[in-house]
Amino acid sequence: MSILTPKSLFIVLLSLCLAIIIGCIYSPNSSVKTNASATSRFGIPIDCTLGKNYFIMHYVDRDPSSQVVDFGCGRQTYDGHSGVDFAISDWQVMTKGVPVLAADSGKVLRVRDGVADRLVSQQGDKEAVTNTECGNGVVIEHEGGWETQYCHLRRGSLAVKPGMQVEKGTVLGMVGSSGLASFPHVHLTVRYRGQTIDPFVGINAADGCQIKRDPLWDRPLAYVPTGLIQAGFADRPPNEKELWQGNFVSNRLSNRIQALIFWVHAYGVQQGDRESFWLTAPDGQTVIEKENSLKKPYRSWVSYVGKRNSEQSPFSAGLWRGKYQLWRGEGLIFEVERELELS
Ligand SMILES: [Zn+2]
Repeated sequence: MSILTPKSLFIVLLSLCLAIIIGCIYSPNSSVKTNASATSRFGIPIDCTLGKNYFIMHYVDRDPSSQVVDFGCGRQTYDGHSGVDFAISDWQVMTKGVPVLAADSGKVLRVRDGVADRLVSQQGDKEAVTNTECGNGVVIEHEGGWETQYCHLRRGSLAVKPGMQVEKGTVLGMVGSSGLASFPHVHLTVRYRGQTIDPFVGINAADGCQIKRDPLWDRPLAYVPTGLIQAGFADRPPNEKELWQGNFVSNRLSNRIQALIFWVHAYGVQQGDRESFWLTAPDGQTVIEKENSLKKPYRSWVSYVGKRNSEQSPFSAGLWRGKYQLWRGEGLIFEVERELELS
């Protein structure tokens, strides 16, 4: 009965593949029982339904002075940042709902809900969230002296209460932008016996970045300090806050717009990085080709090229294409292409 014919082997392999795919699409509560050891225990706190649509915007700051350094010896953090920011591209995605997941099984200690979602960008916004910097949050106590804290959840989305037992992968609420948040994300802080721990490094680690690491994640989690947040088209130059709001994600516009802007929103760009833009008209002609070298590093970076509409050369209807590449030395960091229908 246990002999595998080629056909049954195929079915077994197919179901295995499906199980792996479904396992990613739907992060279930079917966690393996974790033990109290420090290593390999925590899952990522954000559902991978949207797959590649989340990214790590900020790591833990490992420099005790006013300088900053992340575990990869980069600067994708800010002074005193105590956790890891798992971010999504914009407010529109946040409104659709991206679940925040318990990183391990445990007991819910504290919960807060009711704090408004906003994109903090001015001093006045910061003052408005004094004492509620974490926004809507959850604290979970795990076996062996561990604690995890999740911040900035969407108002009204919290799905757990103090005293509840949760499993690894239990939905705690939805990714939001409540408290001191300038973009939609979930901030995860890990503590061991009251001490904040960088989950990419583990316990017993010295300050700085040239150190032995014993990460706490239950899977390999790459260090990606630079990447794409989103790219698209607009009818005027966008600012960063508008891009976090998701204002310019439509791939259709009227050909009577005053200007056509191809924009890119990236994170972790460095001084000396080079960017290349191409904008191609429906007839295949490249109407813009531009290169730019970055004078400064930016944790969040908005860049664009554009063209005005005019009577002499009006925008033609059809499919416009934008292409962007970011280079560091000889290495291509990422490239992105977007299409826009003008009609
Ligand atoms: Zn954070």
